Amino acid sequence: MSFLESMQRVVESDSQLQKLIEEVEQAASLVLLILTALQLGRAIAVKVVEEILNERGQAQEVECAECEKCKAKLESKGLLPREILTLIGWVKWKRRVRRCPNGCEGSQVAPSDEVIGLRAYQKTSLEVKWLGSALAIFVPFETAAVLLAMMTGVKVESKSIWLWVQKRGKMAKEELDTQLAALEAGELPEVELKDAALKTLSLLIGSDGVMVPFRPNGVKSKWLHWPVWENEPMEPSSWYSDVWSHFWGRWMTSLPGCGWKP
Ligand SMILES: [Zn+2]
Repeated sequence: MSFLESMQRVVESDSQLQKLIEEVEQAASLVLLILTALQLGRAIAVKVVEEILNERGQAQEVECAECEKCKAKLESKGLLPREILTLIGWVKWKRRVRRCPNGCEGSQVAPSDEVIGLRAYQKTSLEVKWLGSALAIFVPFETAAVLLAMMTGVKVESKSIWLWVQKRGKMAKEELDTQLAALEAGELPEVELKDAALKTLSLLIGSDGVMVPFRPNGVKSKWLHWPVWENEPMEPSSWYSDVWSHFWGRWMTSLPGCGWKP
């Protein structure tokens, strides 16, 4: 049976999917049609993922792993259930689990979990953590949890998002400390290689910016830009200062209350 035939059988035999299909067919308004169709799409996505994970998790392993402590061949514990919260909802499947016959602590492994990058006791998939953490950059954790649920249907505690951000922040701090320690020891950071096509350009203009909350008259924040110049073919000349003034003049003088003039 092909994968498509297998999925058709799953859809036809699943009462929850059949109910969602009926709701889509009977949706009276466009909004209801879109929201119900989105819900149906997520439900089908869950079934597709579960079908694939079940197939991979129940396939026979080519090699039998060894216990890291006593080097005995791990014995099969049969098919055990696993579930995880993902961006499309809760996903549940069964996969082969092995354990040391001598009962060594921490020896239980699920080889197919390791292949797909799933850690032991991991309850939430990384893409949920990425999106939740990204939202928390702009809004408080409670609001991030509400927005995440509105956009994806995935419900998590605001405390969970706080913990994800703390963990990622700690990892980023450790990485920065390592880089700074290397710099102090005289090890310079690796230079990013430029694309060969970029090197042939005589002039390259880039732009960066930052939001500045100047709102003395209730106007919106301004997006400050500044140009970045590379691969200049000659010394800065009049055209350079003209364009420079144009950039700075355009953005800086548009700021209410900003007395800076190019
Ligand atoms: Zn062992």
